Amino acid sequence: MTVKVTVTGAAGQIGYALLFRIASGQLLGADTPVSLSLLEITPALKAAEGTAMELDDCAFPLLQGIEITDDPNVAFDGVNVALLVGARPRTAGMERGDLLSANGGIFGPQGRAINEHAADDVRVLVVGNPANTNALIARSHAPDVPADRFTAMTRLDHNRALSQLSAKLQVPVTEIRKMTIWGNHSPTMYPDLYHTEVGGKIAAEQVDGEWLRDTFIPTVAKRGAAIIEARGASSAASAANAAIDHVHTWVNGTAPGDWTSAAVVSDGSYGVPEGLISSFPVTSANGQWEIVQGLDIDAFSRERIDLSVRELLDERDAVQALGLI
Ligand code: NDP
Repeated sequence: MTVKVTVTGAAGQIGYALLFRIASGQLLGADTPVSLSLLEITPALKAAEGTAMELDDCAFPLLQGIEITDDPNVAFDGVNVALLVGARPRTAGMERGDLLSANGGIFGPQGRAINEHAADDVRVLVVGNPANTNALIARSHAPDVPADRFTAMTRLDHNRALSQLSAKLQVPVTEIRKMTIWGNHSPTMYPDLYHTEVGGKIAAEQVDGEWLRDTFIPTVAKRGAAIIEARGASSAASAANAAIDHVHTWVNGTAPGDWTSAAVVSDGSYGVPEGLISSFPVTSANGQWEIVQGLDIDAFSRERIDLSVRELLDERDAVQALGLI
């Protein structure tokens, strides 16, 4: 059966890096035909048409159709996988309330359209920032969709952490298991090496504490800014790659003895208030995320998790005060 994948902000940088990989089968596998729906704001429809022309020109065997629209009710009609990439970026001098309001105007109606028109098995990944809170807004407008179908992306932070650790310990990334990103997809997120295993041993015990605290954590947290500084543009291909990884793992499951990171609706685990969309160590089986339970959290990790969760609470309170959820 053809799977309908909707990408919002389809004419943007991440959209450009994402669509070709979806159409080539890297999101759902080489046996799954896909149809793409490209949602854009009206002024960007022409650019989306250009991307669609290039998609046509690839003659992808799995690609069954492309729809381009500025109407969320059309874009999300029958959608199975929704990748919410388009968002209002923070511009210089913009107040946080204005940023959240602008995104409420995007993610509220998209949540409603998903509620009314999506397929029963819809899975939603929010990439557009502030991703966790945008996911919260969309979810709150989709009361008929199970809450656990709304997720936000911390897989890029996860992959960045894998790559930094792999370089430090001079091991292939495939030897690293159980990496965890906690909290908000923002510079407060916490990459935790106290449960990560390298060659079967805890990673935090294989690196010195100073490197972990003063190099590893800030490098992962500030990687986005470092890429802007170097490239003169935001990361796009790596963000698209992480979105592919997130959905691929969600649908196909995590490997035995391993887990990944995703921002999912909290059930109160690890003291994260219920209902917040926060990053956790998660496994996936049968198309469902499960938060890994029973990990010991030491004081160092607790402080950092609490800080990031505090930021999520503040964002939630702000969107609540603005009437966006
Ligand atoms: P990008 O494609 O580069 O980024 C899109 C969103 O992804 C931004 O919110 C960005 O956040 C976020 N993001 C999350 N993780 C990352 C990461 N690691 N690196 C970079 N970005 C990340 O933006 P463009 O401006 O190129 O494209 C956005 C498109 O969205 C435009 O074409 C615009 O027209 C469209 N849009 C569509 C809407 C809709 O469909 N209704 C609504 C709003 C916009 P950050 O800003 O923090 O980098």
